[in-house]
Amino acid sequence: MGRHPRRRSAPATTRATRASRTIKIAGIWSAALILGVAIAFAVRPTLRHAVAALLNDPATLPALDGVANVHYEPRALACAEAVAALAPQAIERVEAAHGRPFAQKPVIGVYASYEHYARANGLGDPGVAAVTRAGAALLSPTLCDKESDRLEGVVTHELSHVHLSGWRPFGAPRPPQWFTEGLAVMASNGGGAEGVSDDEAAQAIRDGYRIVLDGRRWIDFAALGFEREPPRDPTKSALTQRQRLAYRQAGMFISWLRRRDEAAFLHLLRALEAGEAFDLSLESAFGESAPSLWRRFVSALSQPSGAG
Ligand SMILES: [Zn+2]
Repeated sequence: MGRHPRRRSAPATTRATRASRTIKIAGIWSAALILGVAIAFAVRPTLRHAVAALLNDPATLPALDGVANVHYEPRALACAEAVAALAPQAIERVEAAHGRPFAQKPVIGVYASYEHYARANGLGDPGVAAVTRAGAALLSPTLCDKESDRLEGVVTHELSHVHLSGWRPFGAPRPPQWFTEGLAVMASNGGGAEGVSDDEAAQAIRDGYRIVLDGRRWIDFAALGFEREPPRDPTKSALTQRQRLAYRQAGMFISWLRRRDEAAFLHLLRALEAGEAFDLSLESAFGESAPSLWRRFVSALSQPSGAG
């Protein structure tokens, strides 16, 4: 067995140069990586908020066990108990409206600190009353304080989102927000649309201040689409007025769809829960597109007999 010639080792100076070059390149790459992440965070606040939400999962908080897992910040115990007390009725309402039990026991996060709530809700915004994120409903402290009269409606509204997302397969296309919000308003009998009556919303529709049924994100209330900009009451928050009017109109449209053909409506929900695409599922259930059904709804509202 011949000996392999010993590889000549590089002179010490060359090795040192190589090592320092390697360190330098690694340093440049790490600096570039850190810079890239920093730029991504600065340019995409949504990414920053998503990471904050991942690190502030409500499931890590203590929980009251019942028909729902109500997780709470220790200072929010009384609020969590109020939520746990209304949960059975809220769950019953949602299951009746959606026509099916929950896929799993719903998770609700109850916060005492606006700062922690904003970090956990994936928006970085403490001003939203509630958010459903990653299948869990997160409640702002305001729902057990200034806006406690909205607690039951908003919890039921969020549980409608939790119900739908609990059945949908991971990565399935999202139904448009006008549909999911309208469904939640319908299921909660007006949760999220407080302060705007059916009559007021119907009048706004007759006057041409109608929501646009598109794929816009309804969490961005300023960008929420109306065919004509609704008039504003200067004594109220402009964003709240737009949002509640839009939610009420969407809720009325969903109720109308359900009254029009309950079997088709339930067929549509089952298709969405199976992860099917919205437009095709709606057309196959109702035999018409959403814009065409919306036009029928608007014309029904314009008849003297009402929403019919
Ligand atoms: Zn909602």
